[in-house]
Amino acid sequence: MQRISKILLYYKFLPISDPKAVMLWQRELCERLSLKGRILISEHGINGTVGGDMDACKEYVKKCKEYFGRMEFKWSEGGAEDFPRLSVKVRDEIVAFGVPGELKVDENGVIGGGVHLKPAQVNKLVEERGDDVVFFDGRNAMEAQIGKFKNAVVPDVTTTHDFIAELESGKYDWMKDKPVISYCTGGIRCEILSALMKNRGFQEVYQIDGGIVRYGEKFGNDGLWEGSLYVFDKRMHTEFGMGIEDPGFVQLGHCVHCGTATNKFENCGNLDCRTLTLMCSACAEDPMKRTCGKEECANVVMQTVEK
Ligand SMILES: [Zn+2]
Ligand SMILES: [Zn+2]
Repeated sequence: MQRISKILLYYKFLPISDPKAVMLWQRELCERLSLKGRILISEHGINGTVGGDMDACKEYVKKCKEYFGRMEFKWSEGGAEDFPRLSVKVRDEIVAFGVPGELKVDENGVIGGGVHLKPAQVNKLVEERGDDVVFFDGRNAMEAQIGKFKNAVVPDVTTTHDFIAELESGKYDWMKDKPVISYCTGGIRCEILSALMKNRGFQEVYQIDGGIVRYGEKFGNDGLWEGSLYVFDKRMHTEFGMGIEDPGFVQLGHCVHCGTATNKFENCGNLDCRTLTLMCSACAEDPMKRTCGKEECANVVMQTVEK
């Protein structure tokens, strides 16, 4: 009989008084069930992606719910083979914003975060308030190159760590009294980001239940979302609805070298850089062009090719 396997994605914000004990329990549980993947535990909660046999996944979900209470799990295609190993770690933060002391959680989750909107409520808010509504991208700027909400503001961040400086820079003060919808891939980053924004004077902050993933599942390419969704696995990107064939699909990304529409990221060919860069397949296959576009990287690549 063919074995069916799955990948589980989940997070929950709740106070964990002894993260180390939870880490040891989770490690033992995953090892016993032959699950692989990556789990982070902090005093504020747990965030994980694990893969394995369907039965093992079901048992894992049951055990987690017994311990943590109500939790949502997203089931997706894949299995243990999609991960190199099992990694279960204790960290100061389950998402690294660099402000572990600022985040406050209780049994209901993050305290003082943005109002949760279901996908349909996002559209309703925009219908009611029109151009006043600001979409604020809670991801790394690179992710937004291939897809984002219409007219979204994309902060200049390379990693989540950069958000605090961005929010405090004054650049976004103009939106402090506007309705702001923060959004990210699956919702976890905005649970924290929306609270950090409110703490810094943003008056009316929202976040999307289930993030872009759930919005896209509901509205595909016919809503306020445009383009592809960057994902953190070997696919690198995914599309909603019928994908790029969909009449409503908008290709936002362009090859950094020739401008051809593309949603494919490649690492810069300079091994000291390796910056993920949008490249069309023709440019990516040309060893002289396979760079992030910086002159120093072009020089390095040229020297390597000439050798
Ligand atoms: Zn190109
Ligand atoms: Zn480079």
